[in-house]
Amino acid sequence: MIDQCRPSSPCRRNSTQNESGFTHYDVAVSDVAGTPAFDSLVLQVDAVLLTRGLAIQEVAVRGVVAHMLEAAALRTGKDLAEALKLLSPEAVADQIAAAADPAVEGAQSVHSVRPVRIDLRTVQVSLSDLGHVLMALSQAAKYAIANGDTRTADHAVDLSTEVGMPMTAMSKSDFEVALPVGVLDETQTLLNKVAQHLEDEEWSSCPCGQVHGQRDLDAKVAPALRADSRRADRLRGRAG
Ligand SMILES: [Zn+2]
Repeated sequence: MIDQCRPSSPCRRNSTQNESGFTHYDVAVSDVAGTPAFDSLVLQVDAVLLTRGLAIQEVAVRGVVAHMLEAAALRTGKDLAEALKLLSPEAVADQIAAAADPAVEGAQSVHSVRPVRIDLRTVQVSLSDLGHVLMALSQAAKYAIANGDTRTADHAVDLSTEVGMPMTAMSKSDFEVALPVGVLDETQTLLNKVAQHLEDEEWSSCPCGQVHGQRDLDAKVAPALRADSRRADRLRGRAG
Protein backbone atom coordinates (compact mmCIF):
# COMPACT_ATOMS: atom_id res chain seq x y z
CA MET A 1 0.00 0.00 0.00
CA ILE A 2 1.29 3.38 -0.95
CA ASP A 3 1.11 5.08 2.40
CA GLN A 4 3.25 2.38 3.92
CA CYS A 5 6.00 3.02 1.37
CA ARG A 6 7.55 6.06 2.96
CA PRO A 7 10.90 6.98 1.44
CA SER A 8 12.58 6.54 4.80
CA SER A 9 11.17 3.11 5.64
CA PRO A 10 13.18 0.87 3.27
CA CYS A 11 16.53 2.43 4.13
CA ARG A 12 18.75 -0.07 5.85
CA ARG A 13 22.38 0.86 5.63
CA ASN A 14 24.92 -1.95 5.34
CA SER A 15 22.29 -4.59 5.85
CA THR A 16 23.55 -8.12 6.27
CA GLN A 17 21.97 -11.24 4.83
CA ASN A 18 18.36 -11.27 5.87
CA GLU A 19 16.39 -14.21 7.17
CA SER A 20 15.05 -15.09 3.71
CA GLY A 21 18.60 -15.74 2.54
CA PHE A 22 18.96 -12.99 -0.08
CA THR A 23 22.34 -11.38 -0.71
CA HIS A 24 23.09 -8.34 1.39
CA TYR A 25 23.64 -4.93 -0.16
CA ASP A 26 25.82 -2.12 1.06
CA VAL A 27 24.05 0.98 -0.22
CA ALA A 28 20.96 2.40 1.43
CA VAL A 29 17.91 3.26 -0.70
CA SER A 30 18.23 6.81 0.58
CA ASP A 31 21.62 7.07 -1.18
CA VAL A 32 20.15 5.99 -4.51
CA ALA A 33 17.01 8.09 -4.06
CA GLY A 34 18.93 11.31 -4.74
CA THR A 35 20.56 10.16 -7.98
CA PRO A 36 19.55 11.46 -11.44
CA ALA A 37 18.55 7.92 -12.48
CA PHE A 38 16.11 7.68 -9.55
CA ASP A 39 14.70 11.18 -10.15
CA SER A 40 14.31 10.45 -13.83
CA LEU A 41 12.34 7.27 -13.08
CA VAL A 42 10.05 9.22 -10.71
CA LEU A 43 9.33 11.78 -13.44
CA GLN A 44 8.61 9.04 -15.97
CA VAL A 45 6.23 7.31 -13.56
CA ASP A 46 4.44 10.65 -13.11
CA ALA A 47 4.08 11.00 -16.88
CA VAL A 48 2.72 7.46 -17.28
CA LEU A 49 0.19 8.05 -14.46
CA LEU A 50 -0.99 11.27 -16.11
CA THR A 51 -1.71 9.40 -19.35
CA ARG A 52 -3.93 7.16 -17.22
CA GLY A 53 -5.74 10.11 -15.68
CA LEU A 54 -4.11 9.80 -12.25
CA ALA A 55 -2.21 12.46 -10.36
CA ILE A 56 -0.18 11.48 -7.33
CA GLN A 57 2.02 13.48 -4.99
CA GLU A 58 5.69 13.14 -5.86
CA VAL A 59 6.62 12.05 -2.35
CA ALA A 60 4.27 9.09 -2.69
CA VAL A 61 5.74 8.13 -6.08
CA ARG A 62 9.25 8.31 -4.60
CA GLY A 63 8.13 6.08 -1.75
CA VAL A 64 6.75 3.43 -4.10
CA VAL A 65 9.88 3.53 -6.31
CA ALA A 66 12.10 3.14 -3.20
CA HIS A 67 9.99 0.25 -1.97
CA MET A 68 10.01 -1.55 -5.34
CA LEU A 69 13.74 -0.90 -5.71
CA GLU A 70 14.51 -2.59 -2.43
CA ALA A 71 12.32 -5.53 -3.38
CA ALA A 72 14.04 -5.83 -6.79
CA ALA A 73 17.50 -5.72 -5.16
CA LEU A 74 16.56 -8.40 -2.65
CA ARG A 75 15.00 -10.57 -5.35
CA THR A 76 17.90 -10.39 -7.81
CA GLY A 77 20.86 -9.97 -5.48
CA LYS A 78 22.00 -6.95 -7.53
CA ASP A 79 23.06 -3.71 -5.89
CA LEU A 80 20.54 -0.89 -5.80
CA ALA A 81 22.02 1.07 -8.72
CA GLU A 82 21.81 -2.04 -10.91
CA ALA A 83 18.38 -2.98 -9.58
CA LEU A 84 17.12 0.49 -10.49
CA LYS A 85 17.70 -0.35 -14.16
CA LEU A 86 15.26 -3.24 -13.81
CA LEU A 87 12.35 -0.99 -12.84
CA SER A 88 10.24 0.31 -15.70
CA PRO A 89 8.02 3.40 -15.28
CA GLU A 90 5.08 1.29 -16.50
CA ALA A 91 5.64 -1.36 -13.83
CA VAL A 92 5.75 1.24 -11.05
CA ALA A 93 2.69 3.01 -12.48
CA ASP A 94 0.87 -0.35 -12.62
CA GLN A 95 1.50 -0.87 -8.91
CA ILE A 96 0.26 2.60 -8.02
CA ALA A 97 -2.79 2.37 -10.27
CA ALA A 98 -3.66 -1.08 -8.88
CA ALA A 99 -3.32 0.12 -5.30
CA ALA A 100 -5.41 3.19 -6.10
CA ASP A 101 -8.29 1.26 -7.66
CA PRO A 102 -11.18 1.72 -5.20
CA ALA A 103 -12.36 -1.80 -6.09
CA VAL A 104 -9.19 -3.30 -4.61
CA GLU A 105 -9.38 -4.42 -1.01
CA GLY A 106 -7.42 -2.06 1.22
CA ALA A 107 -7.63 0.79 -1.31
CA GLN A 108 -9.40 2.94 1.30
CA SER A 109 -6.02 3.36 2.98
CA VAL A 110 -4.28 4.58 -0.19
CA HIS A 111 -3.93 8.33 0.01
CA SER A 112 -2.76 11.08 -2.31
CA VAL A 113 -4.06 9.56 -5.54
CA ARG A 114 -6.70 11.69 -7.22
CA PRO A 115 -8.24 11.77 -10.64
CA VAL A 116 -6.75 14.59 -12.70
CA ARG A 117 -9.06 17.59 -12.95
CA ILE A 118 -9.69 18.37 -16.57
CA ASP A 119 -12.41 21.00 -16.06
CA LEU A 120 -10.66 24.18 -14.93
CA ARG A 121 -13.76 26.42 -14.87
CA THR A 122 -14.96 28.10 -11.68
CA VAL A 123 -18.41 29.08 -10.45
CA GLN A 124 -19.40 31.96 -8.16
CA VAL A 125 -20.63 30.59 -4.83
CA SER A 126 -22.19 32.52 -1.93
CA LEU A 127 -20.81 32.36 1.60
CA SER A 128 -23.92 30.59 2.81
CA ASP A 129 -23.54 27.87 0.17
CA LEU A 130 -19.84 27.54 1.00
CA GLY A 131 -20.80 27.00 4.63
CA HIS A 132 -23.14 24.18 3.64
CA VAL A 133 -20.45 22.55 1.49
CA LEU A 134 -17.91 22.77 4.32
CA MET A 135 -20.32 21.35 6.90
CA ALA A 136 -21.24 18.46 4.61
CA LEU A 137 -17.58 17.67 3.91
CA SER A 138 -16.83 17.74 7.65
CA GLN A 139 -19.68 15.30 8.33
CA ALA A 140 -18.48 13.05 5.53
CA ALA A 141 -14.91 13.09 6.91
CA LYS A 142 -16.18 12.29 10.40
CA TYR A 143 -18.15 9.27 9.18
CA ALA A 144 -15.28 8.08 6.99
CA ILE A 145 -12.86 8.22 9.94
CA ALA A 146 -15.28 6.45 12.29
CA ASN A 147 -15.68 3.67 9.74
CA GLY A 148 -12.01 3.23 8.88
CA ASP A 149 -12.04 4.77 5.38
CA THR A 150 -9.11 7.11 5.82
CA ARG A 151 -8.78 7.61 2.08
CA THR A 152 -12.25 9.16 1.80
CA ALA A 153 -11.58 11.16 4.97
CA ASP A 154 -8.32 12.45 3.49
CA HIS A 155 -10.10 13.47 0.30
CA ALA A 156 -12.90 15.24 2.21
CA VAL A 157 -10.37 17.19 4.27
CA ASP A 158 -8.44 18.19 1.13
CA LEU A 159 -11.68 19.38 -0.49
CA SER A 160 -12.48 21.42 2.64
CA THR A 161 -9.09 23.08 2.29
CA GLU A 162 -9.86 23.90 -1.32
CA VAL A 163 -13.21 25.40 -0.34
CA GLY A 164 -11.58 27.50 2.36
CA MET A 165 -8.72 28.73 0.21
CA PRO A 166 -10.58 31.24 -2.02
CA MET A 167 -12.40 32.54 1.08
CA THR A 168 -9.12 33.76 2.55
CA ALA A 169 -8.71 36.13 -0.40
CA MET A 170 -12.16 37.74 -0.01
CA SER A 171 -12.51 41.45 0.57
CA LYS A 172 -15.24 42.99 2.74
CA SER A 173 -17.26 43.91 -0.33
CA ASP A 174 -17.25 40.35 -1.74
CA PHE A 175 -20.38 38.24 -1.33
CA GLU A 176 -19.26 35.35 -3.47
CA VAL A 177 -16.07 33.45 -4.23
CA ALA A 178 -14.92 31.56 -7.31
CA LEU A 179 -14.83 27.84 -6.61
CA PRO A 180 -13.33 25.32 -9.07
CA VAL A 181 -15.97 23.15 -10.73
CA GLY A 182 -13.82 20.10 -9.95
CA VAL A 183 -14.17 20.73 -6.21
CA LEU A 184 -17.95 20.64 -6.53
CA ASP A 185 -17.84 17.53 -8.74
CA GLU A 186 -15.67 15.64 -6.29
CA THR A 187 -17.71 16.89 -3.31
CA GLN A 188 -20.89 15.62 -4.92
CA THR A 189 -19.42 12.17 -5.60
CA LEU A 190 -17.94 11.92 -2.12
CA LEU A 191 -21.16 12.95 -0.32
CA ASN A 192 -23.18 10.44 -2.33
CA LYS A 193 -20.68 7.71 -1.50
CA VAL A 194 -20.89 8.35 2.25
CA ALA A 195 -24.71 8.62 2.09
CA GLN A 196 -24.85 5.29 0.26
CA HIS A 197 -22.76 3.57 2.95
CA LEU A 198 -25.18 4.92 5.58
CA GLU A 199 -28.29 3.94 3.62
CA ASP A 200 -26.86 0.44 3.17
CA GLU A 201 -26.18 0.37 6.94
CA GLU A 202 -22.53 -0.44 6.25
CA TRP A 203 -21.39 2.70 8.04
CA SER A 204 -22.59 4.18 11.29
CA SER A 205 -21.90 7.16 13.53
CA CYS A 206 -20.78 4.57 16.07
CA PRO A 207 -19.67 1.28 14.55
CA CYS A 208 -19.02 -0.31 17.95
CA GLY A 209 -21.23 -3.30 17.16
CA GLN A 210 -23.81 -2.42 19.83
CA VAL A 211 -27.21 -0.97 18.95
CA HIS A 212 -27.84 2.15 21.02
CA GLY A 213 -29.83 4.46 18.82
CA GLN A 214 -27.10 5.42 16.36
CA ARG A 215 -29.20 4.18 13.43
CA ASP A 216 -31.74 6.96 14.11
CA LEU A 217 -29.01 9.55 13.74
CA ASP A 218 -27.55 7.84 10.66
CA ALA A 219 -30.99 7.79 9.07
CA LYS A 220 -31.16 11.58 9.38
CA VAL A 221 -27.63 12.23 8.20
CA ALA A 222 -27.91 10.26 4.94
CA PRO A 223 -30.71 12.41 3.43
CA ALA A 224 -28.93 15.57 4.63
CA LEU A 225 -25.79 14.48 2.77
CA ARG A 226 -27.88 13.68 -0.31
CA ALA A 227 -29.42 17.16 -0.13
CA ASP A 228 -25.97 18.75 0.14
CA SER A 229 -24.83 16.67 -2.82
CA ARG A 230 -27.76 18.04 -4.86
CA ARG A 231 -26.79 21.54 -3.72
CA ALA A 232 -23.25 20.98 -5.01
CA ASP A 233 -24.75 19.77 -8.28
CA ARG A 234 -26.94 22.89 -8.57
CA LEU A 235 -23.95 25.16 -7.88
CA ARG A 236 -21.93 23.27 -10.44
CA GLY A 237 -24.73 23.73 -12.97
CA ARG A 238 -24.01 27.47 -13.00
CA ALA A 239 -20.88 26.69 -15.00
CA GLY A 240 -23.21 25.76 -17.84
ZN1 LIG B 1 -21.55 2.52 19.85
